[in-house]
This record gives sequence, C-alpha cells and structure tokens, in this order.
Amino acid sequence: MLDLLIKGGKYTDFNTGEFVSGNVGIEQGTIVSLGDEELEAIKVIDAAGKIISPGFIDIHMHEEKFKKEGENYRISEFMLKMGVTTAVGGNCGLQYQDLKEFKDVIKRKGGSPVNYIMLAGYNEFRYQLGIKRYDEATKEQRKVLRELVKRELAEGAFGVSFGIEYDPGISYEDMRDVLEVLEDERMLGAAHYRNDCINDIESVREMIKLSGEITPKFQISHLSSCSAMGWMKESLEEINMAIEKNPKLNYDTYPYTHLALC
Ligand SMILES: [Zn+2]
Repeated sequence: MLDLLIKGGKYTDFNTGEFVSGNVGIEQGTIVSLGDEELEAIKVIDAAGKIISPGFIDIHMHEEKFKKEGENYRISEFMLKMGVTTAVGGNCGLQYQDLKEFKDVIKRKGGSPVNYIMLAGYNEFRYQLGIKRYDEATKEQRKVLRELVKRELAEGAFGVSFGIEYDPGISYEDMRDVLEVLEDERMLGAAHYRNDCINDIESVREMIKLSGEITPKFQISHLSSCSAMGWMKESLEEINMAIEKNPKLNYDTYPYTHLALC
C-alpha cells in the first residue's frame, strides 16, 4: 500500500515537456507510481483542477528578523503559500542575527514553515567591526572577518554573501580571500553586485571574474534589480557565455517584470 496518493492533478512530463493529468503515488518519500494507476494508499489527496509539483527552492530570500521575543513567522509563511519549501536566507551580505541565535529561535518555536539554507552575511560582520561603508577593511580586520565567517560555517552556514553596492569598500581581493575559506565546491558564494544601471556590465564582469577564481559555486543575485534598466540583454549574453565555460556560475532574477528607469 502507498503512503500517499495525489489524485487527478496535472504534472509535467519531462519527456514531452507537456502537462499530463494523472495520479502520483508516494511511498517512503519517493514517487513510485505515475499515471492512470489508482493504487490503494493510507492517505489520498484530491488534486483535481490543481498542479502537482515538488516544493520550490527560493534561492534569494531575506529571512525573518527574530529580534524581539514572541515574533512569529511571516515571510516563510507567505513562501509556503506560494509553494516554496526550501529558502536560502542571509543574502546580499545581510544576516539579521547570528546563525546560532537564529537556529535557537527556530528550535524554541518547534520548527519553521520552510527549510532554511543560510549564508553568512559578510556586510553584517563589517558593521560589527565598525568598518564604514566606503572604507576597505585593513589586513587585521580581514583576518577577523574571515574568522567570523568560519564561525558561521561551523554553525551550518552554506556559504557567504556580499552586498557590494551597499558597502563599496568591499574590494575584489577581500571577497576572493573570504570565498577561499569555503574550500568545498558544493558551497555557495553570492553577491548583490557593485553597481547598477550604466555601470552594470562592469559589475557583472567583476562577478564573472571572481567566480572563475574560487572553489565554491557562485550566484549573481537578483540580476533584474540591477540590470533591468536597459542592460539586461548585454548582461545575460555575458553571463550565459561565462556559464558555458564555468558551470559553477549562476544567477537569479525576480519572478515578475521589473521596470526601472535611470
Ligand atoms: Zn540585494
């Protein structure tokens, strides 16, 4: 007997690229039957008129700020309603609290609506050391910053993110040094890049170069927010060309039309 039968919904047939109607049978967390078969199951969900899909992964979210006691989930509840089951937080160099503290809150709440993958937010550590936005970190400070990143990695962070536009004092070498701390190629570096609008291409190129010189994967964050001011076509051309040579590079973009003028 199946654990779960999702009945009469539509799902994608990856062989044809089309939607088909049918039943999805699940046993021990694995799909074991697809199609017209209507096997017996402990639980049956009627999905008529609906689409059956796996949970989506949102690679770019900004997590809840659990700064006050008693604060509840908001963002991740909306995420779940949209079908997201795993979300990557700590983006754009912004990490709202230490990972240990964040995990403790989740534990106290008895779990969270979505699974979290967290990045260590580099800008946040600069603020903790009192480094001003336009100032480069000194050699000594960079050492401390790397230690702070290591601490978050030991706590379970999956990589490190930068918000270069927010803190232009973050230099190329600085990022490369920090990303070197991530020795595992399955880990992730991500950045809200340096400039938008007319300076966008230059910034995209900086990201492409960086991704070619580091071990982990690298994600150019929300391309549309910085490039969709008339530079989307050129940015995509450069990025796609780079991805062909370096598959560890990728980008994400908003799921809606973005219109901005500069
Ligand atoms: Zn951003």
